[in-house]
Amino acid sequence: MAKVKGDIIIDIEKCKGCELCISACPQDGLEKSRQVNKKGYLYVVKIEDNCTGCTNCALVCPDGVLKVYRETKKKKEKVAEITNVTGDITVTVKE
Ligand code: SF4
Ligand code: SF4
Repeated sequence: MAKVKGDIIIDIEKCKGCELCISACPQDGLEKSRQVNKKGYLYVVKIEDNCTGCTNCALVCPDGVLKVYRETKKKKEKVAEITNVTGDITVTVKE
């Protein structure tokens, strides 16, 4: 099955660089920046475009720095179909 496409928005001025989100990301998609924010912290940045929208990073962040988004399909897509219900049943599930 295809992975869900996600994305995050980072409020860099609120980040204190504690790295909790970096450890929590199963995609290894986050890293510390090489610049400091106005408070003098190395903030978090995305290093990969592989976010699945799992929300781990936002859940562990103590300062509400991260917003997580998931891409939604604009049109309906059939993912399963059941036919021949009066005889032998054929079930087709899209991978
Ligand atoms: S939502 Fe999940 S995959 Fe995306 S950056 Fe956060 S922890 Fe990583
Ligand atoms: S958990 Fe929050 S405060 Fe800590 S580094 Fe990540 S975004 Fe910054």
